[in-house]
Amino acid sequence: MNIIILGPQGSGKGTQASMLAEKFSLEHIDVGKYLREAAKLDTPLGKEIYEIINIKKELVNDRILKKVLHLKLADLPREQGIVFDGVPRRKDQMEYFEEALREFGRKIDKVFLINLSENESVKRISLRRVCKKCKMNFIFGKNIRKNENCPKCSGKIIQRIDDTGEGVKKRLKIFREETLPVVEFYKNKGILEEINGDQTIEKVFKEISNKILC
Ligand SMILES: [Zn+2]
Repeated sequence: MNIIILGPQGSGKGTQASMLAEKFSLEHIDVGKYLREAAKLDTPLGKEIYEIINIKKELVNDRILKKVLHLKLADLPREQGIVFDGVPRRKDQMEYFEEALREFGRKIDKVFLINLSENESVKRISLRRVCKKCKMNFIFGKNIRKNENCPKCSGKIIQRIDDTGEGVKKRLKIFREETLPVVEFYKNKGILEEINGDQTIEKVFKEISNKILC
């Protein structure tokens, strides 16, 4: 079984992907995580990725994403199911993503789109805090309180500039526009499931699990 979880920031897609990986014994493919891992490798690709993400501080291009995806797929036995976390999210990514899957004899069984309303998105993201010094993330009221410093390094706790209302709305809009062709593609294949992401983590998880089982 191969599934894709898509959702905007704050939709909890990463959490859902790791819970699903555990419940259904799937490999959790988080491209962002692989890039950070690949950047530590002493290979030409590893060095190239390291330079882009740590020195130039830019987004990696599709050529690199494609290579990383290939390496990961080549590494997994074909019978091992996968949950893809947040990819493909744009049309061009989807084209080489589908091509790579075909090459490795895989096909996507279901795509879950976790929808999040503007209000809920703003509400969730406005609670995000980050340590100015060690960059650790926190949720205000949950693991950090008012006037508290970082429990790890005593650094100052701040809110990212783009984690405010306008920034959140803008990111949601970009997400919708970018993913629209991907969403349409899987909808036409009849394998797209839309999930209400305004619900609790547990409810979203139950809904997705039920749809996988049926
Ligand atoms: Zn800190």
